[in-house]
Amino acid sequence: MKPLGPIPAGFEAVDGELAIGGMTASVLVAQAGRTPLFVYSKDRLERRMAELRAAMPDRLGINYAIKANSFEPLLKVMAGLVDGFDIASGGELAMAQAAGLDPSRISFAGPGKRDIELEAAIAAGVTLNCESRNEVDRALAIGERLGSTPRIALRVNPSFELRGSGMKMGGGAKPFGIDEDLVPEIARRAIDAGAEWKGLHIFTGSQALSAEAIIETQGNVLDLADRLSGEIGAPLPKLNMGGGFGIPYFHGDEPLDIAAIGEALEARFAALPDSLFGAHLCIELGRYLVGESGVYLTRIVDRKVSHGTTYLVTDGGLHHQLAASGNFGTVVRRNYPVAIASRFDARPEEEAYVVGCLCTPLDRLADGAMLPRAQVGDLVAVFCAGAYGASASPSAFLGQGPAAEMLV
Ligand SMILES: *Cc1c(COP(=O)(O)O)cnc(C)c1O
Repeated sequence: MKPLGPIPAGFEAVDGELAIGGMTASVLVAQAGRTPLFVYSKDRLERRMAELRAAMPDRLGINYAIKANSFEPLLKVMAGLVDGFDIASGGELAMAQAAGLDPSRISFAGPGKRDIELEAAIAAGVTLNCESRNEVDRALAIGERLGSTPRIALRVNPSFELRGSGMKMGGGAKPFGIDEDLVPEIARRAIDAGAEWKGLHIFTGSQALSAEAIIETQGNVLDLADRLSGEIGAPLPKLNMGGGFGIPYFHGDEPLDIAAIGEALEARFAALPDSLFGAHLCIELGRYLVGESGVYLTRIVDRKVSHGTTYLVTDGGLHHQLAASGNFGTVVRRNYPVAIASRFDARPEEEAYVVGCLCTPLDRLADGAMLPRAQVGDLVAVFCAGAYGASASPSAFLGQGPAAEMLV
């Protein structure tokens, strides 16, 4: 038997079934007309943001990194909740524009931006978080050609990292950002060439559950920004302090203590150096804002026993849930929170393996899980599906195509 991850708080049974936004799983599937289906809850998005705002200092801006989930109705909800958006490609810029997001609230990071992506971003007035000297020079040249002033911030590759993060994005050699010691000269070059100087972006990692590690990193980020601003010789209009706030996916994971992070930031903000005093300070979060708002529903199409092991074969799988299958940046596969949605209040009584419909042994949704006895036709729920599900899974694999998505 292998434990399942913790189901996020607040999900309840109605008529014995998992309910989201007051509607049962079977009603939601009937509305969508098919499975597999991602359901995102507007109420959960709003509550998550309200709790975060209450915990963080008032002056801290909160941005949404749309790569976590770029479903248009969800982007429209987020537009009313957050202070800005972080994008990482021209495709995401187009999605942000289609959702009606204000380009002046968008910043564009990511290595390997092509000229046409820089052009679209500069023409729209998006801030570029430039990742190299070459990129700054190309942005300046494109700005000149278009007759519009590029808004330039520099993404810093800091010499420290976010301890305990699931994906490290700083510290040592990296394809991301500009090494600390090169930043002052490149910043001067952009400012002297007439760019609109937008400050620094320092992102150090992802999926951290230790408040202590995040507090330490935020302290390092503020110290580094102060030092670099001195070396650049100009105050910072803006400092994007990165993010890294994680959510519990696996057995034993505890929710992040955001109250502790908020208190530590409040103390730092009360004693800011002159270089940062007038800066717009923000963090950028993806999964923390949207991950727990989403549930993936997939239907059991077969139930079989092989050498004494029970398999529940679903019509979904890793083509929509790469991370839950254990194939997106994990070393050891562990179970996400999974339940039988159509028997949500039933007692666990058998050990089963929940798999997808793809013809590969990688397609696993839960291994050796204790679950209520489920039959063909039952619905399985995979929780924490609001981030890096639909947006980060190979939906074209085996000709399956994307899942349905709905926001309730
Ligand atoms: C991926 C990414 C994020 C979002 O990460 P989460 O773990 O979803 O919060 C934020 N900023 C940058 C630069 C990223 O690459």
